[in-house]
Amino acid sequence: MGSYNRIMAIDKIAEDFSGTPCGAGRTNLDMYGVDVFNEKAIRKYLPKGIAEALLETINNGVPLDPSIAGDVAHAMKEWAIDRGATHYTHWFQPLNGGTAEKHDAFMEPAGHGEAIMSFSGKNLIVGESDASSFPSGGIRSTFEARGYTAWDPTSPAFIKRYSKDAILCIPTAFCSYTGEALDKKTPLLRSMQALKASVRRLMSCFGMPNSLPVKITLGAEQEFFLIDKRFYLHRPDLLQCGRTVFGAPPSKHQQLEDHYFGSIKPRVANFMAEAEEELWKLGIPAKTRHNEAAPAQFELAPVFEELNLSVDHNMLVMEVLRTVADRHGLVCLLHEKPFAGVNGSGKHNNWSVQYGDRNLFDPGNDPEQNMIFLTVLAAVIRGIDKHADLLRSTTCSAGNDLRLGSNEAPPAIISIYLGDQLSGILDRILDGSEKSGRRSCEMRMGVDTLPPLPRDATDRNRTSPFAFTGNKFEFRAPGASQSCAGVCMMLNIIAAESMDYMSGRLEKLSPEEFNDGLQQVVKDVISKHRRVIFNGNGYSAEWVAEAGRRGLPNLSSTPEALKPLLDAENQDLVEKYGVFSKIEMISRYEVFLAEYRRRINIEGGISLEIARNMVLPAARSEFVKIAGALSCSQSTGGGQGESALKEELRVIGELLDRLHTACEDLSEELKENGDGVVPAMKKMRTIVDSLESVVDDDAWPLPKYREMLFIY
Ligand code: ADP
Ligand code: MG
Repeated sequence: MGSYNRIMAIDKIAEDFSGTPCGAGRTNLDMYGVDVFNEKAIRKYLPKGIAEALLETINNGVPLDPSIAGDVAHAMKEWAIDRGATHYTHWFQPLNGGTAEKHDAFMEPAGHGEAIMSFSGKNLIVGESDASSFPSGGIRSTFEARGYTAWDPTSPAFIKRYSKDAILCIPTAFCSYTGEALDKKTPLLRSMQALKASVRRLMSCFGMPNSLPVKITLGAEQEFFLIDKRFYLHRPDLLQCGRTVFGAPPSKHQQLEDHYFGSIKPRVANFMAEAEEELWKLGIPAKTRHNEAAPAQFELAPVFEELNLSVDHNMLVMEVLRTVADRHGLVCLLHEKPFAGVNGSGKHNNWSVQYGDRNLFDPGNDPEQNMIFLTVLAAVIRGIDKHADLLRSTTCSAGNDLRLGSNEAPPAIISIYLGDQLSGILDRILDGSEKSGRRSCEMRMGVDTLPPLPRDATDRNRTSPFAFTGNKFEFRAPGASQSCAGVCMMLNIIAAESMDYMSGRLEKLSPEEFNDGLQQVVKDVISKHRRVIFNGNGYSAEWVAEAGRRGLPNLSSTPEALKPLLDAENQDLVEKYGVFSKIEMISRYEVFLAEYRRRINIEGGISLEIARNMVLPAARSEFVKIAGALSCSQSTGGGQGESALKEELRVIGELLDRLHTACEDLSEELKENGDGVVPAMKKMRTIVDSLESVVDDDAWPLPKYREMLFIY
């Protein structure tokens, strides 16, 4: 028997966690935002004038006056020390998809064996760090390793706690000595600036004042799995890749649909409560929690916030979920497809744009508002259709390749769901007639004829990658472990370009021509780009065929989905909006492709290790055991069981042979490090999963799906 003892592991979990008591409950929100240098702290720790200046930057994007940096740094330090902090760090988001930090103590030696706590304006504004070990896609070489982090005052500093100390974290952008962005935040901020300008331009076509604040908002729903840590530690694949590379499907998984929105088990509810409390301390508005579709799968959704902040907050949500899970003897899996055969985990990006206090994606209920809404809607439809390839490129990864297009995940084809009512309205704009065959009436965008739209103008369609959900778009293709930054950056660029296209045409119209002209522009755009609208079942095979007929791209694997980054027209677009230079764009291609290849190679390596060192020995012992039983049976004159034993021996013998071959094949593919690794892994998986169902339960060296997904 292998070192993994399944009976013991299961019994221990049962003993430790059956009857997990429920907490006493919480009665107030005093802790909300205590670990954020928020408006309250700013006003308390800074003189009035400086506080106002800083808040202008934070709330309205007014450039920061560098002369106040010293005072801000001092206030931040005092506040952080009062909250128990001993160190500070510039917190940034390199291209490896995670967050990075390097702690510096506030401590400065002051001579005579004494020390003081110090933190200067310069410490706050800029940090210098060795960039050579972060991915840069050729922008940096090791010998010119300098990288800089620059304070992003629009995302408030916060405190991260460990059991022994606390760290003041300053959100920063990360760039090279020559100014190229080496991170995810810089391009995001650039894209926000671009979209804001395009929104203002479009709004002035409608005679709106062009000085109102533009706010881009994001609500990121986070899906994840929780499993008991003891199972996790016995799965080398989970430990090293975050997903299971083997595992036979259990008889019961999600067929009964009894987990989705089911009552949350006490152990998980207690975990959730603690995670929420941590998030609330950080001023992260975690609001909704529920069981998701797969067993052991959950979701946490915050209230939406301004985009840059929301992206930072989602990075923290992932970290908090992981660390709090650990305290509860659980492991939070953020991988897009930790378990084959059941739902994967996505991150629905709810995105919208506000001008002044008007949500531009809200159909509203007065005709004038409709006019703007339909124009913006047409712009988004055009953008998504024109740049579906670019948008798709922001969602690809080794993990998401396994999720998109399988088990209740949208396909890799980008399409838009609008719902019947909005689609009906667009149809009427196009043919000027009522769909139902009633009296034909011309559909005009002007003041008089457009019917007010009810608030919930759409039904729900979970199968669409990009769904209009009443007053926002919900982009569902992104994977659970991905940063929202890249995805939203691309949405911003696409929307900016399309709004500029609309503005370009509208600006040519005289006031007299405006209503008819606008109608024509919207009509042209919709008739040209309506192919991207699809209200049917996105999970179906028919849609894949239909999308092919419509000429929509279906970039199903990461190497394919990254290619649009090399397209010259795409590079021009992204450069035009000041988000990436060509060099930066190519560097993203290089970084993401290299990361993909490395991940696949690691998964292949783990598959091979588990197969050779765990599965083959277990299967061989099983073979020997059955052979023994057979010879015993033959020596005692056979009997009814003999033919069954012979059959078992044949089956397992054959699987053993196939597994040997599969090991050799995978090993060869790994040397090549090419596209052959994924199919070789899949082939091996089929064999190993078959063995799982014939090898004695006691001798199987890995925790099984039915255990990991159900015992917690
Ligand atoms: P569902 O699971 O049905 O999609 P949820 O209520 O769980 O809906 O999540 C919706 C998410 O969308 C929440 O994070 C919510 O704050 C966010 N959201 C709502 N309105 C907007 C908006 N105008 N802009 C961005 N996000 C929004
Ligand atoms: Mg959702």
